[in-house]
Amino acid sequence: MKTTILSIVFSLFVIILSAQNRETSPVTLEKISGNVYQLLGGSGANGGVFVGETGVLLIDSKMDEGSVKQSIEAIKKITDKPIKYLVNTHSDGDHIMGNRWFPKTVTFVAQENCRDDFFKVNFGRESDWDEPEFFPYVPSVTFTNDMTLWLGHDEVNLYYFGVGHTTGDCVVYFPKEKIAFVGDQYFSDMPQLIHSNKNGNSFEHVKTLTKMLETIDAEKFCSGHSDIVGRDAVKKHIQSMVDRQKKVKTLMSQGKSMEEVLAEFDENEARLVTSIFNEIKAQ
Ligand SMILES: [Zn+2]
Repeated sequence: MKTTILSIVFSLFVIILSAQNRETSPVTLEKISGNVYQLLGGSGANGGVFVGETGVLLIDSKMDEGSVKQSIEAIKKITDKPIKYLVNTHSDGDHIMGNRWFPKTVTFVAQENCRDDFFKVNFGRESDWDEPEFFPYVPSVTFTNDMTLWLGHDEVNLYYFGVGHTTGDCVVYFPKEKIAFVGDQYFSDMPQLIHSNKNGNSFEHVKTLTKMLETIDAEKFCSGHSDIVGRDAVKKHIQSMVDRQKKVKTLMSQGKSMEEVLAEFDENEARLVTSIFNEIKAQ
């Protein structure tokens, strides 16, 4: 048991380190379609930029000062309109830490549970968002289920489809372009991350992603850590989670321990399988 936990902690550490090494390339803007761009590179997750009629809306904020400066520079090259809104898709550091280096004139927006998470211990790190110098960069506008932001005549839809990766993940949807930014609710190259410490839940995540597909007619899904994908890839992602849940359930019904269950999966599935095991045990 101890070795399993140690190896999970170690592989997590390796994932974080390799993610940081991989993502130190310069920040670039890549046009998806219309006025919607992906914000790639730098330190932190992939984000998004929308140039609306009356200003710019950003999705997620990278995680260090240099990456924020580069983001602002990259935006200046495509428009002289001001950054009006910054939407945080959820509360992980690689999506929110950069908030504090944006101008104070930006309005920070998030789902209400995500804002609550700003003030909690994050992977062992005490929150400093309550300190006077950082408080202006905490989301000041929140929503429960959905909200529309307007940039002149341009509409941006924010949705909360339920618990999953955390309890406060939102989807930023551009209905005209049929492009959705989903933060860390989708991964291509690795199993779904479920933050049990933030009350995330894999069984709820299946429902949440299914609801997303039923509600919005998006054709392109942008993730914090994957290439842009279509609806079929999201469906496949949901199914892969359901398959793992079924397998864990079967193994548990045979009386297998956590260690024995983990032995039936690949190493990179250990984190998700651990979450699933604990979720079934708590049912
Ligand atoms: Zn992330």
